[in-house]
Amino acid sequence: MKEYIFDSYDDFYNEYITVRSPQCIECGEDCELVDSEVACYIKDRKLQFSSMLLLRCKNCGREYLPRYSKQMIDGAYKLVVEANEFQGVFKPLGSKQQFDYCKEQNYLYDYRDYFNIPGLCEDREHYIEGFLTPVYFEKEALVYFRVLPEYEVNIFSESYGKIGKKDLSGRYQYEWDVPFGFNTAGKLIMWLGDIAVLDDKTKNILKPFNVESDHLLIDSDFYRAQLRCVFSKPIAEKQILLNKEIFIKNIKKKYNIDIYHLVEECVVHEKKIKHPVIFSEQNISEVINAYDKVLIEGFDVEQMRKLYEKLYCEQKRDCNYKKWQSIKLLEAILQMLSCTVLSMDVRMIMSPLYILHDYRIFFDHLLSLKKMDDIKRHIVETLGVSSFDEQEEIYSEEIRRLGILFDCFAILSK
Ligand SMILES: [Zn+2]
Repeated sequence: MKEYIFDSYDDFYNEYITVRSPQCIECGEDCELVDSEVACYIKDRKLQFSSMLLLRCKNCGREYLPRYSKQMIDGAYKLVVEANEFQGVFKPLGSKQQFDYCKEQNYLYDYRDYFNIPGLCEDREHYIEGFLTPVYFEKEALVYFRVLPEYEVNIFSESYGKIGKKDLSGRYQYEWDVPFGFNTAGKLIMWLGDIAVLDDKTKNILKPFNVESDHLLIDSDFYRAQLRCVFSKPIAEKQILLNKEIFIKNIKKKYNIDIYHLVEECVVHEKKIKHPVIFSEQNISEVINAYDKVLIEGFDVEQMRKLYEKLYCEQKRDCNYKKWQSIKLLEAILQMLSCTVLSMDVRMIMSPLYILHDYRIFFDHLLSLKKMDDIKRHIVETLGVSSFDEQEEIYSEEIRRLGILFDCFAILSK
């Protein structure tokens, strides 16, 4: 049980009027709400709460009393004083408070989140209380919207995105579009007030995925972007594409060689590059195939050979370079661009492109079992993951390495 001791009511009052930020005062890291038993002493009175939400730092574990919890303590203290008692035991409200949104669907949520998570109830934009109450869902709900053609799901970052329903009248892009987030436990989160504007069909699709609040929200790009106007970085998948563009532009500027190949086809494939919600073989293969097209076939081999000739004088060229394809040429180009960087393992940095190639062959072709096993083993060994069944781990590592590789291309070509 967590204990708070205040020598006097004034002492408590000072804490009561202190606004707690979502970050820890000691170390600056994000706090999240946790449910805890609390005993609170104010002068000579003891107040016991069987369930109270506290803000706990994710890094150092320090705990802070959030706004509504302090309000509860204050109310309890006054009750005890009025009754001339010296202690009291308090339980959370039996019937859970509900806001005037989505009453019909009766979604599970915890009204205390709205009052306790910093910033949510300070919302002045919405007249009806409770708009920014987080409602939690299993992330699988998003998959439904992904496959139904009338919806569009855009993920901006690992923990922030938007879902829209296309406007069939064609007058607007969307009938509605609302933000969503993922918390650190992988739950999908939407604001109660946003859900209220959705059509009934959508509300009913969401309903069976609705779960009890786990109170986690603060450590997400969704919360950061919505409450603190900190814009999310592009997702890792998109950053790789941006860096490819930067690399091509730098080369054009510096050497007047245009290594861009199949511009329009690349745009089509780039649209398929999204952060998967579910790491199934099909979802991953779609992204991997698109990357293969954009990052390997999306370079003009003839023009890259010209660039190679510019970078390497005749004596230094490899005797086979005229037969080389994209990956080999990119490797040699990176080798030269990075010659000023000490101890850069170019072969290692290039590994994700080889993996991309392996992966695509694995997904696309009818291979003998032996060959399939060889490819699997090669992917697992190169990426240093535990097994080929760990598709999410493989995918994350591949994207991480592609990120590093294209950071290098973008930076070193400047
Ligand atoms: Zn801390």
